[in-house]
Amino acid sequence: MSLQSSTQKEKNAVLGGVLYLVATPIGNLSDISERALKVLSEVDFVAAEDTRNTGLMLSRFGISKPMVSYFEHNKRERGGQIAARLENGESCALVTDAGTPAISDPGEDIVRLCAERGITVTSIPGCCAAITALTLSGIDTRRFCFEGFLSANKGERRDRLSELEGEKRTMIFYEAPHKLKTTLSDLMKHFGEDRQIALCRELTKLNEEVSRTTIGSAVKFYEEKDPRGEYVLIVAGASIAAKADYPEDPVLHVEMLVGSGMSKKDAIKAAAKARGVAKNDIYSLVMKKDEE
Ligand code: SAM
Repeated sequence: MSLQSSTQKEKNAVLGGVLYLVATPIGNLSDISERALKVLSEVDFVAAEDTRNTGLMLSRFGISKPMVSYFEHNKRERGGQIAARLENGESCALVTDAGTPAISDPGEDIVRLCAERGITVTSIPGCCAAITALTLSGIDTRRFCFEGFLSANKGERRDRLSELEGEKRTMIFYEAPHKLKTTLSDLMKHFGEDRQIALCRELTKLNEEVSRTTIGSAVKFYEEKDPRGEYVLIVAGASIAAKADYPEDPVLHVEMLVGSGMSKKDAIKAAAKARGVAKNDIYSLVMKKDEE
């Protein structure tokens, strides 16, 4: 068992020999934390995914620090060098371009390496696009799984999505705009057009947008529009759509779907499809209840 604990007296002291994983904003600079700024100002050096981007961010906060790059293609060699400096008593802040290091970003390997070498690692928590999107989705947040980016390789994507067909937990995917249409149509093949989805884009920015809909409607929408900005896709788990899980009362069924983020129109359509009845039948029942 490896046990790492801190004996420091001052809670926020920045100590030599420690690797700090520092979360940075995902679009809105005001989201940086006071503690993150303190660590970035006081460490001996910063390891950054992209030193230019991080240099710009640091200069916005009036911080100037020696930097080394640490990214996907130099992480083995550079990880060893950073660990050696930490063993010599220096302190280091690891940052990525946005959000929390080690979440679909470099970081995981150096944490493992530090753990192997007995180097203390601590986290300065902050923004994470996945959690920000999940909380805004209106979809069940009690149990979820993070899937990150689907592979660019067609076979690997298909295998992963096939594995997820029965997944009952809410699923979180990251996606870049140029791949969004392909991903939505792959999601439709595996999860069906009625599955609830929340498309969360430009989070924390001026044009933040959350679209709570079904996969089928999202596919249609993007037939006519080009995706822009970075996306997080929150997809409802299989249980919400599963026949056995819906209430006997069709109106309650619609309410349940609306309650988990669907528009009323989509919920009526989805409930009708799941129950194998006409959309208008469900619509009339919902209208009747609304008038009561
Ligand atoms: N480590 C980061 C985190 O904690 O969220 C994620 C880095 S990953 C390389 C970048 C992906 O995160 C983007 O392609 C997008 O899916 C998601 N993302 C990052 N910022 C976002 C934002 N402001 N709005 C929506 N999605 C965002």
